[in-house]
Amino acid sequence: MILLARQLLDSQKILEAMLRRLPSTHNEYMHVCDRLRRVKAGLAGEQRVNAEWLELDLPSPHYFLHDFQTMNDFGSTHQMDTIFLCPHFLLILEIKNITGILSYDASFAQLTRTTMDGTVEGMTDPFLQLERHVAWMKRVLQRERFHLPIVHAVVLATRNGILTKGFEGQPIFHVTGLRASIQRWTEIYQPIETENLLPFAKRLLSMHTRLKKEVTVPLKEMMKGVVCPHCANGQPLMYHYKKWTCPRCGLVDYNALNRTLEDYRILVGPQLTNRSFREFFAIESPNRAYKLLQQLPLKVEGEKRHRKYWIMD
Ligand SMILES: [Zn+2]
Repeated sequence: MILLARQLLDSQKILEAMLRRLPSTHNEYMHVCDRLRRVKAGLAGEQRVNAEWLELDLPSPHYFLHDFQTMNDFGSTHQMDTIFLCPHFLLILEIKNITGILSYDASFAQLTRTTMDGTVEGMTDPFLQLERHVAWMKRVLQRERFHLPIVHAVVLATRNGILTKGFEGQPIFHVTGLRASIQRWTEIYQPIETENLLPFAKRLLSMHTRLKKEVTVPLKEMMKGVVCPHCANGQPLMYHYKKWTCPRCGLVDYNALNRTLEDYRILVGPQLTNRSFREFFAIESPNRAYKLLQQLPLKVEGEKRHRKYWIMD
């Protein structure tokens, strides 16, 4: 049973909105492209592992919490790709979708990837991250007076990631190894009473909070306006006779206003004023802005000058 399903990641939405509004000459542009590529690779890896779960004969009952996010008592964050609970154990899974030849040096806490063209790249130590998560989970179990063995593993979602030296004895395997590991843990750990499992899983779910992702480029450096989704580099649409039209490619865009509002929500936040609307949508006339605001699904608060608008979910 999936208690917490994976959603389209906030970070992906933010990065895509940033790319729509960053000039391609901006010094962060390539960096944002690269981050978006990594986020997408991560998501593809998670989907690959999810497909593997469906093939397995799992102990019953069992519960999944995907992309679990929380903040610990010290104010730092935890983001776990998958938590799997069954009567035998609790598994914390870190999913990696990294291609290339991988090696690991535990004494330096260093994971290195060598790509096909020979480029060597350092990466964050996934085992240290997992140990942090395990320590947090142990504290939660203690606090809830609940006993369940914790196991953890890094799963490599692609066959094109080749594990070489340094990984001996580390909890890491390719996605196809999930079956054997689940079987082994099921044999090692005796099952607990099943009726306590769901309440604990729900308790964990109540600790899930979606962590806020920051927009890393100042808004003033992004392109404003209602822009054409087909033409590159922020080609503005013209508003004539209640229609948004692109003077370059001729597109008539009936969704222009809502799409721009979504960019505003992602990059600025859920609240607007007539002024902030005019700035982001690049509209000079307060009167025209007022009329356009009436067309949007917004909740109005306050009167006249002090009027605020909230974007509804
Ligand atoms: Zn266009």
